[in-house]
Amino acid sequence: MAKKLYILIGTRPNFIKVTRFKELAANYNFEVKIIHTGQHFDDNMANIFFDQFNLKPDYFLEVGGMSPNSQVAHIILKLEGLFHEIGKPDYLMVPGDVNSTLAGAIAANKMEVKLIHLESGLRSFDKKMPEEHNRIVADNLAQICMVTEPSGLENIKNENIQAATYHVGNTMIDTLVKHEPDIDQSTVLDDLNLEDGEFILCTFHRPSNVDEKEQLSKLVSLLTALSKVKKVVVPLHPRTTKMLKEKGMYSAIEVNEQIIVSGPIGYFEFQKLIKHSLVVITDSGGIQEETTFRQVSCLTVRENTERPITITEGTNTLVKFEEEVILGFVNQIVNKTYKTGTVPQFWDGHTTERIFEIL
Ligand code: UDP
Repeated sequence: MAKKLYILIGTRPNFIKVTRFKELAANYNFEVKIIHTGQHFDDNMANIFFDQFNLKPDYFLEVGGMSPNSQVAHIILKLEGLFHEIGKPDYLMVPGDVNSTLAGAIAANKMEVKLIHLESGLRSFDKKMPEEHNRIVADNLAQICMVTEPSGLENIKNENIQAATYHVGNTMIDTLVKHEPDIDQSTVLDDLNLEDGEFILCTFHRPSNVDEKEQLSKLVSLLTALSKVKKVVVPLHPRTTKMLKEKGMYSAIEVNEQIIVSGPIGYFEFQKLIKHSLVVITDSGGIQEETTFRQVSCLTVRENTERPITITEGTNTLVKFEEEVILGFVNQIVNKTYKTGTVPQFWDGHTTERIFEIL
């Protein structure tokens, strides 16, 4: 009989990490079901990805729009209800580090379902980040830890976590490799009147960068300064748009003809922009990895990263939120004196297969 692997997802980066499991399941005698918590639920943060990846969730827990506490509580209860209804799987897999990850880990533990943490072992060592707590809990409750980079193995060992741990690589890169033809077909460059290597791509959404007025005015000033170097494309996370509008700063970006500002965009379009950008400036987790894979320069505006391999082997540099520092690096990139990188081990498009083989 086929083994049952259920995968609990809730947010944009989750969706992008699990696109190949259903497709490959039959080759390994697995039955895969996707459970979507609804943490991200609107068209441009969720549905567009289900359409682009042809990834239809089998069950929907509808916890969108709740406070983090309510969300976690409802996911636990609804997952318990669902498992009573359809039966427990052999494995529950939770990717990443969001509220859905935490809730799924707790539910699996209480219901004695074997838990797999996908993208395990990453640590920013910054307890101010909610993601760090979610990662630590998920790793400690997991029976199986699937790790993207060697720092993950080290962190699991140092914290004396007892799970079976495997360095399998990066399923986000599986998605990218598989969909490269779709990405190449995107017309986004023509649509936005952009030329290869002639624009800067920016994304910002971490609370530390966008929740305070002072940080937001630094962001507006940075985008304005960058727009004097090259065109700037800014597909904003809903959180950032909301904060900019609330503080009356959105129009300062919108009126600048050198800045193309929009809401979040589809995966194929976003990947095409990464591929052809001069540099990506971001505070995202996953984008640090995608730029490293593509060997596109990346400046990460954060105090720390849970993905150190993107710095030691990849094209990423951590930068302080200081305009002069960032412009200095952009200058190096324009002058081609910025570092180049290599692609980390197992970031090869075959991580999902390795995971099935282990299971
Ligand atoms: N992404 C996208 N459209 C956008 C911005 C990002 O498809 O407008 C993708 C991006 O390529 C990456 C993922 O969303 O795969 C990263 O998500 P996010 O930055 O929200 O989360 P984090 O990785 O920081 O947890």
